[in-house]
Amino acid sequence: MANYRLKILEKEPLTHDVNRFKLEKPRGFQFNPGQATEVSLLKAGWEAEKRPFTFTSLPSDDYLEFIIKSYKGHEGVTKRLGNAEVGDEVEIGDAWGTISFKGEGVFIAGGAGITPFIAILRHLRKKNKIGNSMLVFANKTNDDIILYEELKAILGHKFLNIISDQKDTAYDKGLVNKAYLKDKIGHFDHQHFYVCGPGGFMKAVMGGLKDLGANPEALVFEK
Ligand SMILES: Cc1cc2nc3c(=O)[nH]c(=O)nc-3n(C[C@H](O)[C@H](O)[C@H](O)COP(=O)(O)OP(=O)(O)OC[C@H]3O[C@@H](n4cnc5c(N)ncnc54)[C@H](O)[C@@H]3O)c2cc1C
Repeated sequence: MANYRLKILEKEPLTHDVNRFKLEKPRGFQFNPGQATEVSLLKAGWEAEKRPFTFTSLPSDDYLEFIIKSYKGHEGVTKRLGNAEVGDEVEIGDAWGTISFKGEGVFIAGGAGITPFIAILRHLRKKNKIGNSMLVFANKTNDDIILYEELKAILGHKFLNIISDQKDTAYDKGLVNKAYLKDKIGHFDHQHFYVCGPGGFMKAVMGGLKDLGANPEALVFEK
């Protein structure tokens, strides 16, 4: 397995704890939308700390992009990446599979679990193949929603936001559970479901979907 040493070319905050990183792309580097790789920050003492992150750029772009949520209360890699600067270097490995895209369907993401779907949805938009795909995006507050404008432009009214911890939100309020899924999604058989997010979210969503007769593709971001 190859390793690539890459410079951070751009860093842009997307929310209070999420940054978009644009990186150099190694010549001939290949990945599919939705795939991830191991990333480490090349700063003293952190080189061996590899963590998985998902490519959000398109395979045809001449740069790599990652969208990374920093856990600021925890001395880990994501906090260090949040403090990294343009010109700093990271190391990445080869791409490996996460969620495999099987066709249009319902994407359900919790927080940073949106990243594989950003890549897949950008790719579908480029090929003009969004079709009837739908996105349910769960966050704690309105300010946690990543790339709202872009996702709205891609999906229009098939972009649903649900907020758990902000009483005055104008979006749907609460958690993505069986009742919510049943209310918002017409049918559960003959349709692809893709779910990605933190452990507790995954448990609730997967349980609800299975009760409703769906057979989802799933990726757990944190245990
Ligand atoms: C395939 C895959 C792809 C991913 N892609 C992305 C992506 O594109 N973007 C993205 O933002 N994330 C992504 N993630 C999640 C990302 O890998 C984790 O957020 C990251 O590994 C956390 O690294 P860390 O060093 O900051 O935390 P670590 O030191 O690795 O600790 C992580 C764990 O520590 C615990 N923890 C968290 N906070 C605290 C705290 N304050 N005190 C004690 N314990 C705590 C939690 O249980 C957490 O799961 C992906 C995960 C997977 C599996």
